[in-house]
Amino acid sequence: MGIIIAIDGVVSAGKSTTARLLARALGYRHLDTGAMYRALTLAATRRQVPPVAGPELESLLGRVHIELAPEGGVLLDGEDVGEDIRQPQITRSVGAYADLPLVRRAMVEAQKKMGAQGGVVAEGRDMGSVVFPQAQLKVRLVADLEARTRRRFDELKAKGVAISLEQVREDIRRRDREDQERDYGPQGPPAGVIEVDTTAMSIAEQVAHLAALARQRGA
Ligand code: C5P
Repeated sequence: MGIIIAIDGVVSAGKSTTARLLARALGYRHLDTGAMYRALTLAATRRQVPPVAGPELESLLGRVHIELAPEGGVLLDGEDVGEDIRQPQITRSVGAYADLPLVRRAMVEAQKKMGAQGGVVAEGRDMGSVVFPQAQLKVRLVADLEARTRRRFDELKAKGVAISLEQVREDIRRRDREDQERDYGPQGPPAGVIEVDTTAMSIAEQVAHLAALARQRGA
């Protein structure tokens, strides 16, 4: 039991970390929907299934088993792929798969099931509009480009990924553009969404701020 919290936001605004820590603080489940799209992209890449609507991809969607472990891991057919799905190659190609209606249908259906009981922090851009329009708290995280570039760069560097600051900035710019061009459902932000600018906020501050909003709404 518990409320549904939908967290959306721009690329690298701290969605995942904030959602994960918020879920932990409230004793809720973290629904990292980006990780689900990434895991599918990894599965397709490994099997050389291109991002094209058709029987190959349909069959993959029917066979592949993507699971979000309660403690935060992502399992693809039982294998922990938490690291692999964050590689730049997957980051670059995930949008092409996520754009396909047959992929979205399968993912949205799975996500609705996972959140049906409440007590979830659901993260991803269509959470408040398509997957959980009934969410009691809808938040959109934003931050300026330089803050986001630095955060993502530090994150990748810590993982030993060799990439330049310029490359990271360009990746974020491109994904911003892709996000703006996409339409995943009702136009514009969902009703009642609260925008939080995290440019000058630490992760701890973001989490405390969102936890307070959640408690006001019954969490
Ligand atoms: O949040 P993350 O960077 O892991 O998301 C990876 C990609 O998955 C996004 O850039 C987007 O293309 C796709 N995605 C989506 N719908 C969601 C979550 C993620 O299309 N709910």
